[in-house]
Amino acid sequence: MSLSNSDIFAALRAIVGEAGVVADATDMGQYLNEPRKRFKVPAVAVALPGSVPELQAICRWANEHRVGLIPQGGNTGLVGAQVPLTGREVIVSLRRLDTVREVNAAAGHMTLEAGVILEEAHKVAEAAGALFPLWLASQGSARIGGVLSSNAGGVQVLAYGNARELTLGVEAVLADGRLYNGLNSLRKDNTGYDLRDLLVGSEGTLGFITAATLKLFPIPEAQETALVNVPSPAVALELFGLLRGRVGTQLTAFELINRFGIDLQLKRAMLARDPSASLSPWYVLAEVSRPKGGTPGTLQAALEEALGSGLVPDAVVAESEAERVAMWAAREQMSDVQSKEGASIKHDVSVPIGAVPALLAEGTAAVERAIPGVRACPFGHMGDGNIHFNFTQPEGADPKAFMAREKDANAAIYEVVQRLHGSVSAEHGIGQLKTELLKQVKDPVALEMMRAIKLALDPNGILNPGKMLGQGPE
Ligand SMILES: Cc1cc2nc3c(=O)[nH]c(=O)nc-3n(C[C@H](O)[C@H](O)[C@H](O)COP(=O)(O)OP(=O)(O)OC[C@H]3O[C@@H](n4cnc5c(N)ncnc54)[C@H](O)[C@@H]3O)c2cc1C
Repeated sequence: MSLSNSDIFAALRAIVGEAGVVADATDMGQYLNEPRKRFKVPAVAVALPGSVPELQAICRWANEHRVGLIPQGGNTGLVGAQVPLTGREVIVSLRRLDTVREVNAAAGHMTLEAGVILEEAHKVAEAAGALFPLWLASQGSARIGGVLSSNAGGVQVLAYGNARELTLGVEAVLADGRLYNGLNSLRKDNTGYDLRDLLVGSEGTLGFITAATLKLFPIPEAQETALVNVPSPAVALELFGLLRGRVGTQLTAFELINRFGIDLQLKRAMLARDPSASLSPWYVLAEVSRPKGGTPGTLQAALEEALGSGLVPDAVVAESEAERVAMWAAREQMSDVQSKEGASIKHDVSVPIGAVPALLAEGTAAVERAIPGVRACPFGHMGDGNIHFNFTQPEGADPKAFMAREKDANAAIYEVVQRLHGSVSAEHGIGQLKTELLKQVKDPVALEMMRAIKLALDPNGILNPGKMLGQGPE
């Protein structure tokens, strides 16, 4: 028999106290309003445990009474994984677990609790003279537990890896309230299945991450940044090979943007002036992070070689921090400017890097066939093979009518992605947005393995029910 709302409030208050439970619909708004504005299902309540034992008690109680719990960090996820699906769930926000447990810059690691905000993690590392290299546009709100559970990527995955690769160990509370102590700072540990890698990226479906030990790196001496004209994505790929050859792992960003995106930003006055050297259908934003004692000007030298050989027609190297900031703004505002131009259909996909030109050509052609007049606005982490393959509505079109065609655009893009052996979710995850899609595209044996793991760790299906794999065992 399911519990009434007042039974649930009473049980939660008994564990976390009156102040640790949000039951009022208006007060719950900040936990329910997610960035995509697509998912609008209410929650029964929000619980804010103030300690790991309190969280363990919530899990024990929920497991006994079959109450669905949704782990939440900063509520910035883009696939609806952190917000309710049925309206019968309790959101459990870990924002109060925000202690910095240890920082050891010399040994290259720090241990933070799940509620620490990503931007704060950067500051903690910097104060110790080290770098935590995971940057997202949402870093002012996203929290360590959410960043790890969604295995977030960002703009420097190329050099440092995504959240999974930056994690050495995790501590987690399981569905039945047991505490898994996997916090360690080992670089090598071959003692069985990798439970850290399983929990990172599990979108809150296998456990609550309560703390993590994260890798730290030396702070670079300086950044060298350029906006390079490339006539096509194929040339961008050749440029990538050249830069990797000349500057190696110092190449920390290799991002692709198109002219349409820059024009939109100029039209909407989101850029004071054009940061590029001259008109080009495509641009690459390349950045080199120079280590202390490294040779200055390596990016400039590599680009002179590319210009000299005729590979690229034009480029501009940032000569001041203001110019660098303007170049990054042109890249980071690509998504925002689209929403100002009307409705947009978005895809976060990846393919092997060598297949990015085919993805862009075939994907654009297929969507243009399906929706005449649509305007392609792809951009993203070309160096990782990860493109945010977005489409803006035709000029003057009705946004609702355009969004009614979303399924056609999705089908067109995912067909190309699958043919090129890519992934339908490169860095944003599955959540509730792509649950059905996952069933269609994932290897059936992989799906069976994933369901078996879920059943073993959460037999009553109380952790983030219905997310990622669809409905649970109940
Ligand atoms: C403007 C903007 C830019 C973004 N840019 C990027 C980008 O460049 N790259 C990228 O990869 N992503 C990006 N994202 C999405 C990204 O997933 C999130 O920003 C971030 O990683 C999620 O952190 P969060 O704390 O907000 O998690 P939430 O949104 O709260 O939760 C995300 C997932 O993690 C789970 N979860 C949260 N906390 C815990 C926990 N302690 N234990 C277990 N599970 C937990 C939730 O249940 C959910 O499944 C962006 C989002 C926005 C709004």
